[in-house]
Formats: sequence, C-alpha cells, structure tokens
Amino acid sequence: MKILGGTFGPVATNSYVVFAHDGGPALVVDPAAGSHDWLAHTLAAHDLTAEAVWATHGHWDHVVEAYRWADKGIPIWAGTGDEEWLAAPAPFNPALFGNPPVTPGVIPARILGDGDRFSVGTLDFVVMHTPGHSPGCHVAVEETHGEAIVGDLIFAQGIGRTDFPRSSHTDMISSLHRVIDELPPATRIYPGHGPWGVTMEEATPWTRMFM
Ligand SMILES: [Zn+2]
Repeated sequence: MKILGGTFGPVATNSYVVFAHDGGPALVVDPAAGSHDWLAHTLAAHDLTAEAVWATHGHWDHVVEAYRWADKGIPIWAGTGDEEWLAAPAPFNPALFGNPPVTPGVIPARILGDGDRFSVGTLDFVVMHTPGHSPGCHVAVEETHGEAIVGDLIFAQGIGRTDFPRSSHTDMISSLHRVIDELPPATRIYPGHGPWGVTMEEATPWTRMFM
C-alpha cells in the first residue's frame, strides 16, 4: 500500500493518492485548491486509474476541486453530514481563505456512514464517523495495512479547529477519544494538514494536550 501526499492552497491542505500497487486503481483524497495537476501527474506516473475521490469532510479547502474530477466521470465519495458544503463549496472565513472564485459543487455518488466499508482494488477501508471539526468528518481506516486517512480530526501534533460554523468541541473530544481507543497505536495517520505518516502512538500525546 502506498500513500503519496502533496500540500496545496491558501491553508496548506494535504491531498493524497492512495493505491495498493502501480498499474491499478487508486483513491484520490481531498482535492485541495491547486492540487489537480499534481494529482493527475502522480496518477499517470504510477500508471493508476482514479476509481473515486474521497472527501474526508466538506470544508472548502478539501473539496474545492472535486468538481474537476466529477467532470471527468470520477465518482465522489463522502461521509454523511457535510453534503451542503459539497454541493456549494463555501470558504466561510475570508481571513483564512481570501475570496476565491466560486466553483461548482458536487453531488456524491456514495454517501457513507459509520461502519460502512469501501474498497479500492485490494485495499479495504472501514469508515468511522468522527464529528467535531465539522458534522461530516469521517476517518477511513485500512486495517490490514494499518493506515488511516484522518482528515482534520487529528494532526501529527494537534487537532482540527472547532471554532468554525457547525463545529462542536464536545463532539470533537468524543471523536478523539474514540480513535485513540479504537485505532491500534501503530496505525499511521494521514491528516488534512501538516506532516503525515506518524503513528497514533506518536500523535496521541500531542492530542491529549487539547483534550
Ligand atoms: Zn476542515
């Protein structure tokens, strides 16, 4: 299993290409502002076919270029809860995001909930609903390989903000307890911002500073 990442846009958002091996299907994660060409190049360089785009949640910086993949016929998959933002990407904080041009929204082909599974080739993911940063935040865990795409729930040395519209700090704390309890300590995490590939064991002491 390989997860290749790049960082794009006004708030340094991570986009990923996830795949089992070269020459097969791949999952595109969180198509950030300005990520499209790098994602397309990375897919081509590894002879990969994008099977779907997974949106970890509906915040503008994670979904703003989803329409470019939908335009090519690639289905968008997302957890339930942030559908409105996927339909109308909304940079709700000009101080952070500036005033970018309005971009088209997308209607996800698949809406997943807690405990649902999806496959990309031989990779098998289980979805955890982890609200707090936004109502629709979901973590996708590949248990066999011990990798987790965690969005803006947990970072290498911090947690996602809960001062945004529709955030809930109470839900955030519950979600953090859940991933700390349920994910094996050796699980490597791939967050929406900052360094990736650290383990839950390495990230957890930093997380607890916010709990
Ligand atoms: Zn976010």
